[in-house]
Amino acid sequence: MRIVSGIQPTGNLHLGNYLGAIRNWVAMQDEWTAKGATCLYFLADLHAISMPHVPADLAANTREMVAALVACGIDPDRSVLFNQAQVPAHVELQWLLNGTARMGWLNRMTQWKDKAGKNREGASVALFTYPVLQAADVLLYQATHVPVGEDQKQHLELARDVAQKFNNDFASEAAPVFTLPDPIIPPQAARIMSLRDGNAKMSKSDPSDQSRINLTDDADTIMQKVKKARTDPEPLPSEAAGLEGRAEARNLVGIYAVMSGRDVDSILAEFGGQGFGAFKPALGELLVERLAPIAARYRDLREDHTTLDAILATGAQKARTLAQPTLDAAYAALGLVR
Ligand code: ADP
Repeated sequence: MRIVSGIQPTGNLHLGNYLGAIRNWVAMQDEWTAKGATCLYFLADLHAISMPHVPADLAANTREMVAALVACGIDPDRSVLFNQAQVPAHVELQWLLNGTARMGWLNRMTQWKDKAGKNREGASVALFTYPVLQAADVLLYQATHVPVGEDQKQHLELARDVAQKFNNDFASEAAPVFTLPDPIIPPQAARIMSLRDGNAKMSKSDPSDQSRINLTDDADTIMQKVKKARTDPEPLPSEAAGLEGRAEARNLVGIYAVMSGRDVDSILAEFGGQGFGAFKPALGELLVERLAPIAARYRDLREDHTTLDAILATGAQKARTLAQPTLDAAYAALGLVR
């Protein structure tokens, strides 16, 4: 069993990134490696150039993301953690698969339609062929399982279609070149909202730093941000149904629930009827207790480029080794003399 999953490098990580994305990777690593599977986690830096970007930011974000992943619990000894740019096999296989993928298939991709919008002529070729690189990302490692959210289901289907057609056209039934990966639905991702507006997503692009808890925030900052978080004047309800229409209250209780591993009803059974004056310090303390070790590790690591680059180099070495047999088989199947 082999799991492959990628994430776009992003910097200035916050509680939303942690609870909505990174924590799931850690949970999958722990669950699947215990079953003897290999998890390959990569930073999709090659995908990042499909949209306008600032090169210096991409480099910084790639290192920051590795720092955050490791600080949050991705173990580079147990998982293969790397960035695509150090494993040229991704690009090579993408080109080989470009011969198999059809224009019509790519034209139907909703992400392409959404991101290109009305300006298709001005969109990059990389944005159009992005799903073929994604197919290469997973087929290269004979992935058996790929975690996909709703928005990526179509791309995984495409990867399966590409693998199927390639196997049909260029390999024998007895010795297919590619494994068709199955989707796994990742654990329900939490959606964390801004501390200033319960209807807006917590995001690094919010101009107000008070709107988010950064993974670098120290204990005092976390306490102060939680205490200043926007709320309504009502006391907390005693049941989940009472959070309807109270976006800020719901968000804070939701954060408490995911951070503590408790369900919303048990939290409201404890805090229902009380005002936020009692609940906020409890939430702040919980966040400090859980985030402090992560924040300390993250702050140290993000400055330590030597360690980060060594982690990436080791991961890339492992990934190149795992990729080579499949890449060789794909070249050979196509009749390419090397
Ligand atoms: P941002 O909105 O801060 O720019 P990104 O778009 O770079 O964050 O997201 C990186 C990852 O973190 C994605 O997988 C995304 O789903 C997750 N994520 C970002 N913000 C949140 C949030 N507020 N709640 C849950 N998940 C989030």
